[in-house]
Amino acid sequence: MIEETLFSKIIRKEMPSDMVYQDELVTAFRDINPQLPTHILIIPNRHIPTIDDMTDADEAAMGRMLSAARKIARSEGIHEQGYRLIINCGKHGRQEVPHVHMHLIGGQDVGPMLSRNG
Ligand code: AMP
Repeated sequence: MIEETLFSKIIRKEMPSDMVYQDELVTAFRDINPQLPTHILIIPNRHIPTIDDMTDADEAAMGRMLSAARKIARSEGIHEQGYRLIINCGKHGRQEVPHVHMHLIGGQDVGPMLSRNG
């Protein structure tokens, strides 16, 4: 079995987080190291290490992640100005935590899409 990450503990509320949304498929909580005024992680409740590991059975959860992002953006009051959704995958994608997560960032202009610095 692939080892869980701390995100599974956050889902089960065994580890504290600033949770903003949870349903039977997905959980969302504020990033511990926010890069912008709004920085929220939206994750599937099932432990899927990377997007490359998802199966057809995960399509509902992936769709729900987008629906949750839309609702959270509204509740954060950033939907009119806009925001960015990011999913990093694997080594070249610089994914740090091996549990699929979508970053919802906004609250100000997020800048150009890609930076080659760093
Ligand atoms: P990534 O580089 O896409 O894997 O992003 C991992 C994200 O998880 C980073 O933005 C971290 O700040 C965030 N993170 C790591 N641990 C926690 C935690 N305990 N609670 C909230 N966010 C976390």
